[in-house]
Amino acid sequence: MKTLWGKPVAEEIYLRLEEETARYIQSTNHAPYLAVILVGSDPASSSYVSMKEKACDRLGFDHATYRFDESVSEEKLLSLLSKLNDDPKVDGILVQLPLPDHLDAAKILETISPLKDVDGFHPVNVGNLLLGNPSLVSCTPLGILKMLEYYEIETAGKHVVVVGRSNIVGKPIAALLFQKGWDATVTICHSKTRNLRGITSLADILIVAIGQPLLITPDHVKEGAVIIDVGINRIEDAGRARGYRLVGDVDFEHVASKTTAITPVPGGVGVMTVAMLMNNTLQAAKKRRNEAEILA
Ligand code: NAD
Repeated sequence: MKTLWGKPVAEEIYLRLEEETARYIQSTNHAPYLAVILVGSDPASSSYVSMKEKACDRLGFDHATYRFDESVSEEKLLSLLSKLNDDPKVDGILVQLPLPDHLDAAKILETISPLKDVDGFHPVNVGNLLLGNPSLVSCTPLGILKMLEYYEIETAGKHVVVVGRSNIVGKPIAALLFQKGWDATVTICHSKTRNLRGITSLADILIVAIGQPLLITPDHVKEGAVIIDVGINRIEDAGRARGYRLVGDVDFEHVASKTTAITPVPGGVGVMTVAMLMNNTLQAAKKRRNEAEILA
């Protein structure tokens, strides 16, 4: 059994991005620019935003974080987004989720220009992904693809079972893996799936993104399967100073010995997401500048 750590994969991507960014800055005299919008003071969201800021600093990207009180109006956010869409120095725009209930997240995400949608959530990017066209791909599914590549996990002709049908993980990773080039046969399971065990235990590659701590146990898994665990869940742990620990959706301790390879939580897929956001910001910057040059 091999543990599929995210760190070496993310590090390799950062090294490539460092070189690519330096070349980009040299040839354009502009640093890629990421604008982040953070509403409220949720500690997890604030910590994700600060990780994104640090990654920008490491690579030499320019960035700005727009912080708003929990009670901010939708109009105010929409008006900021439209300014950022029109601002030629801004390459990527990200709205940190989740948003408070009074804000229409779908409407806000759809207001971001698809060319600057570095989270890959805009319907135009999601549609292009499904069609197999070039698009900005959401960061967690893209991170999973990079891990499969790095660890040379063959997907062609394999049966991939994806558990979870969220817009940010389940749907896009399923839609990516059946495209030409990845060539997997994909089954999607969700909360209303009957006989989940029966289906997951057919998987050559099992990708789980449900947010249910340790739900996947050995009887869900075929001997020799590869498991990608996207879940990040807090469970109480009186033995830890902070009172909890992080676990995945898969019961790693009991499942690992049945697999040929499995991602750990923490330290697996989660490590990839910010690296992929940086990748998307640089790609968005390059694409917009190339198009501007072609039009000039
Ligand atoms: P979500 O909460 O939006 O949706 C959960 C999905 O799981 C739904 O489609 C639901 O149908 C399915 N589901 C729930 N219970 C199920 C069950 N018992 N059997 C089968 N299907 C079930 O999901 P999300 O936003 O994709 O997040 C899933 C998990 O992945 C969470 O733990 C989240 O924290 C984590 N996550 C991690 C990253 C990362 O590593 N960077 C990114 C996004 C999400």
